[in-house]
Amino acid sequence: MSSRVAAVVPAAGRGVRMGGSTPKQFLSLGDVPLVVHSLRTLDAVEAISEVIVVIPEADRQYCQEAVVDRFHIQKVTQIVSGGRRRQDSVRHGMLALKTKPDVVVVHDGVRPFVSREIVEQAIVTAQTQGAALVAIPMKDTVKRVNEQGRVEATLARKQLWLAQTPQVFRYSWLVEAHAMAEAKNLDVTDDAGLVEQLGYPVTIVQGSAFNIKITRPEDIALGEAILSCQRTQKKL
Ligand code: C5P
Repeated sequence: MSSRVAAVVPAAGRGVRMGGSTPKQFLSLGDVPLVVHSLRTLDAVEAISEVIVVIPEADRQYCQEAVVDRFHIQKVTQIVSGGRRRQDSVRHGMLALKTKPDVVVVHDGVRPFVSREIVEQAIVTAQTQGAALVAIPMKDTVKRVNEQGRVEATLARKQLWLAQTPQVFRYSWLVEAHAMAEAKNLDVTDDAGLVEQLGYPVTIVQGSAFNIKITRPEDIALGEAILSCQRTQKKL
């Protein structure tokens, strides 16, 4: 049985933590715009047939020309406008899908180093289990701290994981999750959070410490270091 897989790439953030006037999704990393890295990886995943990129309204044309056309990205079928919050951007992307897929891959446009293998594993997990969340276990001890800077609790590290993307869902679950968020006026930072609230099981797929989100200016330097390390490994 063949399963239809689509991807939504939210890249409509304003990048306020990055500063500067160029939206961070278009900043240069390894001589190409940041968002090109994830789009190339999604292009390379055979199971994915369609990719929707979500971009600030003012940058849609730029994204078409300076990203999709210039770098010959194959699977992008639409570039749609984002919303105020990440969850609004994901919803816009998901609702723009013309042919309903079986599963949807949601991957942040600012996570350039996800590997093809991790995306593929997350897709297979969602196809069999309904929802997959790429995450890594916590290495550090985590404290809950109050507003006065006093530690309130030390959390049990063994049970704590850091959520990354991709997050992959049965299409109907993701639609239901976003409809619930709208109806109940919920604010979340990831899609799995909504699917969890519906009571559906979300299965972890082991991510990678390299799968960082480029958020602050220092992340660009870290990203360049990861790229140069990957290039050296390829040459060996
Ligand atoms: O804000 P955060 O770091 O969680 O952003 C994660 C991803 O969501 C980024 O790729 C960003 O461009 C995207 N985003 C979006 N629309 C928003 C806010 C963030 O597509 N309104």
